[in-house]
Amino acid sequence: MKKFDFDLLIIGAGSAGVRAARVAAGLGARVCIAEERYLGGTCVNVGCIPKKLLVYASHYSEDFKGSNGYGWRPGNPDFNWRELIARKNKEIERLNTIYQKVLDESGVKIVNGRATIIDPHTVSIGQQTYSTEKILIATGGWPTLPDIPGKEHVITSNEAFFLEALPEKIVIEGGGYIGVEFAGIFNGLGVDTTLVYRGPLILRGFDGETREFLSQEIQKKGIKLILNTLVTSITEKKDTSLKLHLSNDTTLVTDKVMFATGRHPNTAGFGLEQSGVKLDDYGAVIIDDAFCSSVPSIYAIGDVTNRYILTPVAIAEGISLAQSLYGKAPTRLDYHDIPTCIFSQPNLATVGLTEEDAKIHFSDISIYISEFTHLKHSLSEIPEQTFMKLVVDKESDKVVGAHMVGPDAGEIIQGIAIALKAGASKTDFDSTMGIHPTAAEEFVTMRQATQ
Ligand code: FAD
Repeated sequence: MKKFDFDLLIIGAGSAGVRAARVAAGLGARVCIAEERYLGGTCVNVGCIPKKLLVYASHYSEDFKGSNGYGWRPGNPDFNWRELIARKNKEIERLNTIYQKVLDESGVKIVNGRATIIDPHTVSIGQQTYSTEKILIATGGWPTLPDIPGKEHVITSNEAFFLEALPEKIVIEGGGYIGVEFAGIFNGLGVDTTLVYRGPLILRGFDGETREFLSQEIQKKGIKLILNTLVTSITEKKDTSLKLHLSNDTTLVTDKVMFATGRHPNTAGFGLEQSGVKLDDYGAVIIDDAFCSSVPSIYAIGDVTNRYILTPVAIAEGISLAQSLYGKAPTRLDYHDIPTCIFSQPNLATVGLTEEDAKIHFSDISIYISEFTHLKHSLSEIPEQTFMKLVVDKESDKVVGAHMVGPDAGEIIQGIAIALKAGASKTDFDSTMGIHPTAAEEFVTMRQATQ
């Protein structure tokens, strides 16, 4: 008879937990996974997938407009928000059942309910208590709101996915990727959209010039940007519209206000600290490079560790942990050169170092820049510009950063990321034939350094 009910009990069936469960079970571990809300977690239900569907939906307005230049007369297309949300919900339900199926087929026991850690080898889920050799915390994160008067009127991305009706006007606070992406979504769907951000430039942490470029592009498309400013309070008017008081002593009147002002790790209220698991000041589980917390039988991966808030990272951590615990040899993840994309309109995608960071790491760098009108827009007459930038370490000739603002930048940078990972030099880029005519070919035809 085994000492414990399970080898591994995973709390949270999001990107990280589900992948860890499937791989661990595949390697012979007896795995249980607890989920209190929805299978697939944030990414599938209120994150990447529904977000990208809404981005696709909102881009059609510009596509219809641009098609005029190609001889099309689509008239005045009608858009139905409720229909979009219903279809999106149906697709998410389909994905939820796929998650259920793959976990069942892997032999993972799924228990619906909120899990609480009783001690380092015991977890309760609902009325049931289970013993387990190891516990994996994969509880993700949750949006947090600043404590301002009137915050009860604020929605977050969670609610934005389920709005009953599309507002005429929206104010979004937050210059991170969620705020910028949702501003693009609402603006594309015809909502009068204002983005308020406390900093001097959106998308802190990304390459400076690239951020500037995207700022200009989203404003050209109609998003109003108010920088160095915060919403300080909100009052509801008699007609149910909302009056926002801003830190620059002005006011805005809007139908909806959404805050994308940060997400915190889900670590409160389920027995973590009582079990001795140490958290950092932000509430994230502190782990070592083998994902182990301060309690030897308790591990943590994904957003709950607040390191890289990205689904592919959460999945890779799930695989790495499961293989390390139940495979032949421990594996360690390489976190260098993680590519990422902001699904703004146009996209901003990036891999490697920003120019600012490269200047800290290398004594001498070259910068290559290309700015042009995408061939598609030569006839569409949409005044969108594309921007590409390569950052090169002069001494080794290695390309250490690639950045792009333009259509399908995410798709293009994914390929460039492989080149960077493989250690490609600028000479390798230059000796690669382009695919003509594409925007991506610019990455292999930039010959003149700007510095
Ligand atoms: P989650 O997916 O959040 O899963 C955690 C799960 O744990 C949840 O299902 C939760 O219900 C459950 N849980 C929590 N506590 C308990 C408990 N006590 N008992 C039982 N269950 C519990 N990433 C990208 O790579 N690309 C994108 O385009 C992208 N877009 C995003 C857009 C939005 C609006 C948001 C919010 C996020 C986006 N992300 C994106 C980030 C991505 O969704 C996360 O990095 C990823 O989902 C993290 O996975 P996880 O498994 O760590 O956590």
